[in-house]
Amino acid sequence: MAEVIYGSELSQEIRDEMRQQIDAIKQSGNRVPCLAVVLVGDNPASISYVKGKEKACASVGIHSVELILPASISQEELNSELQRLSNDPGVDGILLQLPLPKGLDENEAVSYISSNKDVDGLTPVNFGKLFLNEPAFAPCTPSGILELLKRMHCDPKGKHAVVIGRSKLVGTPVARLLQNANATVTICHSHTKNLKEITRMADILIVAIGSPKYIDASYVKKDAYVIDVGVNRLEDGHLCGDVDFESVKNHCRAITPVPKGVGPMTITMLLKNTIEAYKRGYCNGK
Ligand code: NAP
Repeated sequence: MAEVIYGSELSQEIRDEMRQQIDAIKQSGNRVPCLAVVLVGDNPASISYVKGKEKACASVGIHSVELILPASISQEELNSELQRLSNDPGVDGILLQLPLPKGLDENEAVSYISSNKDVDGLTPVNFGKLFLNEPAFAPCTPSGILELLKRMHCDPKGKHAVVIGRSKLVGTPVARLLQNANATVTICHSHTKNLKEITRMADILIVAIGSPKYIDASYVKKDAYVIDVGVNRLEDGHLCGDVDFESVKNHCRAITPVPKGVGPMTITMLLKNTIEAYKRGYCNGK
């Protein structure tokens, strides 16, 4: 049986360390880090994600401010709100909850977030730095995946990593982070032929496709490290990943479950980036 690596436990440990850091900041009399969370419209899933992020901030002592904007807001008004927060010295990190309501251009809006406050790692500047292997805020889910590999005692250097999925939020940036960590990386997507032949060569297999239990043991090399990013809701209401956990767990070296795997790490990386943004800005007197 593989080692099951719980992101929920790792997250808790990282959050405990963050809480200590923030307690020390409070004791020194400085203001604490502040995350501005911007929600446009009233999509129930987005409202619930925003609440989760604010709760997570409170759990470590990060101050969060919520800006709720109507779905009818114009692109120009949204851009200018993001610019205002970018110029606000009391705000260290900005999170724009995606997706935006129809009619608003996400890429344009994101480009109004200062790259120094882009704790979600989505601005073109941070994306570019990631690809140039320069220090940057990397998107949170991919950063969380790299932390989980560390917890598996898996150094990507020299290993063959196969990433299934090439989205802007997960597949593409995690592939780049793995390459930056000196893995040899293959990216697969919906047009990839002979997927199974490729995945069976993977020392590290990252699955981010959004299809319940798609990857069973026949796709996995024995002794591989398997990270399941997928979150799918089954008809009975339960959540499951893109990996058939029961099939794969007896076949690999280490695996993350769903839920309690990658998900908790994503929010924890957002908190980590917010503290980092604070240190880069506020503590340097900027
Ligand atoms: P996405 O934007 O829909 O991208 C899915 C990717 O998978 C695409 O690149 C697609 O290929 C590829 N794909 C789909 N079916 C495939 C197949 N049968 N074989 C090979 N490739 C296939 O999704 P995403 O945003 O990356 O999210 C992926 C999953 O991760 C979802 O379940 C999502 O809910 C979950 N997720 C979890 C977290 C977390 O914190 N736990 C965060 C983000 C996402 P094409 O490019 O060719 O279409």
